[in-house]
Amino acid sequence: MSDNKTAMVGTPCQILAATKINKYEKETGGSSVYVKIGLFCMENFSYSYLERFLKEKNIELYEVKDFRIEKGFFIANLIDGNNFKVPVSKTESFTRKNCHVCTDYTADTADISVGSVGSNKDYSTLIIRTEKGKKIIDECVKQGYIETKPISEKGLRLLKAIASKKITKNLAYINKREAVSRPVLSKRSVNEEEFIRESKDCQFTNLEDDVISVGGCVLCGACEYVCPEDIITIDDRKPFKTGVCPEDCHACYFACPRTFVSNEIYSENIDEKPLGEYIDIVSAKSDAVIGQDGGVVSSILIYLLENNFVDEVSIVGVDNNAPWKPFSYLTPNVEDVVAAAGTKYSTVPIGFKALKEKGD
Ligand SMILES: Cc1cc2nc3c(=O)[nH]c(=O)nc-3n(C[C@H](O)[C@H](O)[C@H](O)COP(=O)(O)OP(=O)(O)OC[C@H]3O[C@@H](n4cnc5c(N)ncnc54)[C@H](O)[C@@H]3O)c2cc1C
Ligand code: SF4
Ligand code: SF4
Ligand code: SF4
Repeated sequence: MSDNKTAMVGTPCQILAATKINKYEKETGGSSVYVKIGLFCMENFSYSYLERFLKEKNIELYEVKDFRIEKGFFIANLIDGNNFKVPVSKTESFTRKNCHVCTDYTADTADISVGSVGSNKDYSTLIIRTEKGKKIIDECVKQGYIETKPISEKGLRLLKAIASKKITKNLAYINKREAVSRPVLSKRSVNEEEFIRESKDCQFTNLEDDVISVGGCVLCGACEYVCPEDIITIDDRKPFKTGVCPEDCHACYFACPRTFVSNEIYSENIDEKPLGEYIDIVSAKSDAVIGQDGGVVSSILIYLLENNFVDEVSIVGVDNNAPWKPFSYLTPNVEDVVAAAGTKYSTVPIGFKALKEKGD
């Protein structure tokens, strides 16, 4: 790993992978991720199924200006000014199945979490979780990168209700699935000793059995990133191994967000705390960036770069060869951050792929 300090923006599962990699540095080799910015996330979508779904409605992805999820609808705003709406409850055909076993809505292990729910249009909801996150937000406000105001009671109630709904709905799904199939290991949570005991004998074949072959892989790229032998490759569907594992290596199993999670990461009663542990929750916006909501994530990243808090940031733009296909990369440039603002709703290997490719 390099000595670079990176700020990573990611869905709760990607942020959990970064948390595990850094906590189990001895086993995984650690990472350059120094600031974790989590995005709220109810579910994500398969790129190919989303493409197919829209095609059936006579819409090509290149005709889409942006995607939004608003008031219970998944909306594709088209370049010609029209839009296509479908209730979120009817997006099942292109939702990734692994998202049904996920109970973290607000990225509980991030330094700062950001989403739209809870705040008015053009604002983002900001959850400050750690002292590092607080220092960053205090400075962003002081230096004018973002402005904040208290979240409304109604907004906070809504946020809690939606996060609780994800937990209740997906715990029910997990219980149903476990009754007929293998246990969902990431179901919160085991104690630290148990975590180490269970993980220290496991290698990629166990990852295949416990996560990949049972549809649990979130394509975060953490296993590929930590593999010291460079024998994991991830295509658009799943990771696979191309070599032989040394006996004493368990890095991929320790890093994966869908293997066991210790209660030192998610506290034992986390399902009773839908928003996780936090210091403060506010509404925030930035006038400098046109983002998905308040442009807050991009403005925080710009602050981090301009103040040398980090050397580079990990952002998600789109693949030049495929419309709306997420493509992640590391950059020290503010212009790249501005260009990458906005949400790319679909899953392909991103997150750690960028760190792996750059050798960080
Ligand atoms: C898959 C997904 C599902 C989401 N679901 C919800 C939800 O249910 N409820 C809710 O309130 N908010 C949700 N969000 C978050 C919301 O869409 C906004 O990203 C958030 O409010 C921040 O807005 P902003 O204007 O402050 O960010 P911006 O300034 O627009 O910056 C957005 C940042 O996100 C990064 N990014 C874009 N796409 C991805 C991606 N696929 N993976 C990782 N990083 C990415 C970009 O690089 C950019 O840095 C979701 C986001 C994603 C990616
Ligand atoms: S598993 Fe799915 S729902 Fe959970 S954080 Fe990742 S993308 Fe979002
Ligand atoms: S060497 Fe094997 S066990 Fe170690 S990280 Fe790579 S695939 Fe996993
Ligand atoms: S198997 Fe690899 S890519 Fe899939 S969730 Fe686990 S660490 Fe991420």
